[in-house]
Amino acid sequence: MELSYWELKNWFANVDYTIVGSGIVGLHAALRLREKFPDDKILVLEKGMLPQGASTKNAGFACFGSLSEIIDDLKNHTEQEVIQLVQKRWKGLQLLRKRLGDAKIDFKPYGGYELFLKSDDNSYNECISKLPLINEILKPLFKADVFAKEVDRFGFDGIHDYLIFNPFEAQIDTGNMMQALLKQAISQNILILNQQTVSSYHDNQKGVEVALGNFSFNSKKLLFATNGFASQLTNGAVKPARAQVLITEPIRNLDIKGTFHLDRGYYYFRNIDDRILLGGGRNLDFDAETTTEFGQTEIVQNTLERLLKEVILPNHNFEISHRWSGIMGIGNSKNPIVSQLSENVFCGVRLGGMGVAIGSLIGTELADLI
Ligand SMILES: Cc1cc2nc3c(=O)[nH]c(=O)nc-3n(C[C@H](O)[C@H](O)[C@H](O)COP(=O)(O)OP(=O)(O)OC[C@H]3O[C@@H](n4cnc5c(N)ncnc54)[C@H](O)[C@@H]3O)c2cc1C
Repeated sequence: MELSYWELKNWFANVDYTIVGSGIVGLHAALRLREKFPDDKILVLEKGMLPQGASTKNAGFACFGSLSEIIDDLKNHTEQEVIQLVQKRWKGLQLLRKRLGDAKIDFKPYGGYELFLKSDDNSYNECISKLPLINEILKPLFKADVFAKEVDRFGFDGIHDYLIFNPFEAQIDTGNMMQALLKQAISQNILILNQQTVSSYHDNQKGVEVALGNFSFNSKKLLFATNGFASQLTNGAVKPARAQVLITEPIRNLDIKGTFHLDRGYYYFRNIDDRILLGGGRNLDFDAETTTEFGQTEIVQNTLERLLKEVILPNHNFEISHRWSGIMGIGNSKNPIVSQLSENVFCGVRLGGMGVAIGSLIGTELADLI
């Protein structure tokens, strides 16, 4: 890369903070740094033309865990840990709404639902029987019951009689949210460069030499917000997890409103612009979906289409309009990793399937390590 004197001076000299990744976490970290250091130079480097991981690919659920997910989490985490996770997600959602405003992100408090396939007796019975207990556990946080049984009024097929309704869940417009974040960052004098891949770095104690291929520059601090691409950085503590999504063409008289979870969160769908957006199916082939490559597979796409036809829209004709995928960062704990890697290098990664909720908070925590 051949840069001019001006380019070097204005973009790459005297850089105080460099953030890698312009997803939800990277941008919230940048905004928090700006709050703390009004005059410092903050540079965000993003490898994609647009943010290219999960933040512009997701389903836009403003959620904090379905009943079956919380019951599952209690099997691998202590009760205290699970409460803390839910609390963080809830706090993160409030921070996101406060920072951007409900109108900007198209926040719609339609509530969320969990449904159970007829074939899934075990999960259904467990959820129905543990519902009062989980409500008790969450009561101090929400001051009301979070989950309630509700009869299906959407005309789904092949599912158990009751859905589990959560009035605290909502949906947002993911594209609007990310554009609002990017605009806010730019308006606060944060420099964002796209199609720049950080290939390596060297912490020399006085600062960090950051390499973009064969060009390098110095930054006082380096913050990684690379989530699903942070496997090497975290010695394997973060693994990539691809999630595939499809969306229908607009459907006439569509009367489905809300965010919906199915099969312990492995499938999710919502209404948007008279369409249904449906994603999931990673559990059909975990090995193939443990990848940083974008793309679709037949097994997942066929299952998504079958679910649409047989369960979600049995009484509608519909066509698929578009398909895509995104890359999440997961691991053997649902707790994100926010840590210092060396004197001047930090990371905030492993957001799992809840980054819309916790991304704002993790970005803030990452910036507050400095
Ligand atoms: C299909 C799908 C549906 C989802 N649905 C929901 C949902 O409904 N609700 C919810 O809360 N969460 C959902 N999630 C999860 C949520 O989107 C993520 O948790 C969140 O976006 C993570 O944000 P992030 O900033 O940590 O990571 P990302 O958005 O992935 O950002 C990381 C960025 O780092 C960049 N990068 C990586 N390596 C480099 C490098 N070397 N140099 C430069 N740049 C680099 C990437 O290009 C990427 O833009 C979903 C995820 C997917 C994929």
